[in-house]
Order: sequence, then C-alpha cells, then structure tokens
Amino acid sequence: MTAEGKAVDGKAVDGKAAVTAGAEPGTGRSLSPSRAGDFLTCPLLYRFRVIDRLPEPPSPAAARGTLVHAVLEHLFDEPAAGRTPEVARSLLAPEWDRLAAQEPELAGLFESDAERATWLDEAAGMLDSYFRLEDPRRLEPAHRELSVRTVLASGLQLRGYIDRLDVAPSGDIRIVDYKTGTAPPEAFEARALFQMKFYALVLWRAEGRVPRLLQLMYLGSGEIVRYEPDESDLLATERKIEALWQAIERARESGDWRPRPGRICDWCAHKAICPAFGGTPPPLPEPDLPAPVGDADLAAATPAAGPQAAT
Ligand code: SF4
Repeated sequence: MTAEGKAVDGKAVDGKAAVTAGAEPGTGRSLSPSRAGDFLTCPLLYRFRVIDRLPEPPSPAAARGTLVHAVLEHLFDEPAAGRTPEVARSLLAPEWDRLAAQEPELAGLFESDAERATWLDEAAGMLDSYFRLEDPRRLEPAHRELSVRTVLASGLQLRGYIDRLDVAPSGDIRIVDYKTGTAPPEAFEARALFQMKFYALVLWRAEGRVPRLLQLMYLGSGEIVRYEPDESDLLATERKIEALWQAIERARESGDWRPRPGRICDWCAHKAICPAFGGTPPPLPEPDLPAPVGDADLAAATPAAGPQAAT
C-alpha cells in the first residue's frame, strides 16, 4: 500500500495528533494493550504495575527499544530523499542524549563509554534491519506515535499509542508497530497480534473504518508479520477485552491477584516480592484510589514479556 494522501482525522493532544472518541481521559476505567497483555501474562504483574504502581528500573533492552522507536519516529521528519541508513544512524546519539536528559535514570545504565558504545551499535543494527524490511523514502506516514482512544458501549475506555499509521489515497489504513525483539514462534503469534487488533478496534470504534492491514515489524529478526482484520475479528477482540476487564474487576474486588510464573519472570522487576519465588507483596493500597487510567507508557520503559516482546 502506498502510504500517502488522506489522513485519519487527528486532533492535537499534548502537541501530538490523536484519534479520540467518547469521554475525556480520566473519567472512567481504562485499559491499554500493554496492561491487557500484563494481566493475560500474569495478574500479579498487572497488580504491581497498575494498582501498586511500583517503579521499575530501566533496562538496556527496554531503553534500546525506546531509542530505536524515537529514531524511527524522527527519521520521517527528514525529507523523503534523506531517509537513509546513514541519516538514521546519525540520529542515534542525539536522540539518546535527548532521552537521557528527559529521564536521568537512563544515563546510569552503562558503567563505561565502551559499554554504551556496544549498546548503541546494537541499536544501529536494528535500524539496519529496519532498512532491509522497507524503504522509508517511499513512505509518507499519516501519523507517528498517534494517541488513540475510544470508549466502548460498556463504558470501558481503551487507549494506546500507535507507532505509525499509514493511509493510502484510497483511504485504506495500515497500522505499523515496531518491535525490537524477534518474531514469536507461530504458536504465540496470536498473542502478538492481540495488541494490533486492540488498536484496530479503537480506530474502528473511533473512526468507523476497519484498518486494512496490521503490520508488525520485528527488527531483532528482520521479519514482518501482516494481518488483514475484518469486522468479525474486531468484534471478537472487543468481546475478549470486555471479558478480560471483567476478570480484572473481579481480581480488584477480591484482592486475588495470582502470580502466573513463566518465562516473563526472568525479566520481571518484582521477582523479589513475588510469592511464586518466596517473596511477599506489599499490602494492597486503599481500594478507593482513583481508577487507573492509561498506563500507556510503562511499556515503553519495560519489556512486556522479555526480549521477544520488547518494543
Ligand atoms: S515474577 Fe513472574 S509470577 Fe511473579 S509477578 Fe513477576 S511475572 Fe508474575
């Protein structure tokens, strides 16, 4: 799909484009794909992140994901002819300086300049991988880092950020998500696509158009996963999200946030306080705290399910 021409309607929110429908943020309970994925992976992890709001230290893998995303976002600020691998690589150091200035904790990730240089080389390798998958000189994204939000009939607010949205002259929409991990085995592909269907559902409900294509670009392994959703897919996704939210509400009411150990535990920042590993969680906060909203960006700082799922 040639990606230029019409744009999905975008309002300005916090200086960035946004597609929104329904209640304003903060007026109800809300869910993002990252946190939905947390609950599906491990309810206790969801609790630690959303209910307890425990801080998580940055990791090199997650920081690399944030950096590569930032470079790919700003690469499209360049005129089309200037979107080359060399220019992308040249953006790495200034983008890193900018991110480290915004989040000083990041600066402490590396013990030496050599360690930082190796890490930057790995990020550069991911950019090279990106250029083997597509030629950004032939693209004109309609939106980058697009904030999307809608409210379902039940009152549940769905929200998130789409890495890139391409809109063809025909109006066909392509949702693009960059992953700095490797493509999952086929058996786990459905899980990876859930996030994309979540975004597609939000756009469909907010804009009335079913996106034509969902595209996951795995820069760790140089692979693309594509999926063409239809209305029945998105209705099924909506039912799944509503059922998931009911399960979250039941856990919230009962206080029963069960650990579900798995591969994710190797990267979980909260292993020391997890009962599955002999730890003791802190007491639950008072139940009448404001309902969690958004949560959109914890994922940018933490791999959702280890390196494979690192964004
Ligand atoms: S260590 Fe594993 S089981 Fe425990 S909270 Fe983290 S992800 Fe869940």
